[in-house]
Amino acid sequence: MRNAEEWTTLLSIGTEGGTIELKGAERYDGWWDFRLRTDESSEGVTYHTAQGAKEDGLKLLDGIAWMSLYPLYVSPEAAGAVEKKVLHHKYRNESSFMAWLEACYPEAERKAALLANWLLTAERTVLFTGAGMSTESNLPDFRSKEGWWRRVDPRTVATPEAMNQDYPLFKDFYAARMASLEAAVPHAGYYVISSWESRGMVQAVATQNVDGLHRKAGSQRVYELHGRLQAVRCSRCDEEAGEADFRKGRPCQICGGKLRPGVVLFGEILPEKDWDEALLAVQKADLVVTIGTSLEVYPANQLPLMSKGRSVYINADYSGTASDFDLVLEGRAGEVLQEVDRLLKSVQL
Ligand SMILES: [Zn+2]
Repeated sequence: MRNAEEWTTLLSIGTEGGTIELKGAERYDGWWDFRLRTDESSEGVTYHTAQGAKEDGLKLLDGIAWMSLYPLYVSPEAAGAVEKKVLHHKYRNESSFMAWLEACYPEAERKAALLANWLLTAERTVLFTGAGMSTESNLPDFRSKEGWWRRVDPRTVATPEAMNQDYPLFKDFYAARMASLEAAVPHAGYYVISSWESRGMVQAVATQNVDGLHRKAGSQRVYELHGRLQAVRCSRCDEEAGEADFRKGRPCQICGGKLRPGVVLFGEILPEKDWDEALLAVQKADLVVTIGTSLEVYPANQLPLMSKGRSVYINADYSGTASDFDLVLEGRAGEVLQEVDRLLKSVQL
């Protein structure tokens, strides 16, 4: 038998009629003795005991829906095991779940922890990314007012008219963009996304970006809603062609037509196949995470609204459009993704 003072309170839970208390005492060999005290049953106070590794104490709570109850105290010794349960818990009782989240995570981490929980418990998750993802890889945002290429307004160059009437200018513009992309390295956020896909937590990425960085970072299922710069094809016969041929100004080897980048020009329709598949994926998803897009470009900006599931918005600039979302995480895409990933890894080891 142990003296009362040898026991540490690991976890204390409030119930309607009283409390559930888990205590533990570390033994000389590094293992732990556990004692669970409940005053719920009609026979009064009952005790259950167990032994095991530090994390095993929570097993005494199996059979009790304790996350539907409210935490009174979570000790540092129990925090790791409780966090693991919390982030994997598919909750029905939102208010008690939020209380557990508060007991485990400081306020600054709480939204990231909630997203981690949603990622772990969703059946199908689709990510939707925009320019904010790319600019962090030091790629110029070609929509920005400053412009970046010979101070030419992309709206006048990135058009079918420019392609037909001033092909050298059109070609130079896109060749410059392709050259800047060659050296672009996907930032850590891209690798977080591709690792979530390979771990089964993300089913697809739909992107407004044309830089191919998701693929470069290893993402497999990518719907490119505005096409991809490097997917060069013939403007006349639609045959695929090499990026190098386009950059050197060569014509199509099949028909002699002008080559063009695989992006949607201003005034053209979106690639039907990618759009349809992205739409279907979003409609089937129970979690859609929108990352780094101001949601200004129609119709791609409608995509995240097509899901009946939970919706999350991650962006450095919080704008009014974000009020349509269940959860908003303000911050740079790469940093937020890495923080969520750190929380996920802390409970998946
Ligand atoms: Zn051709």
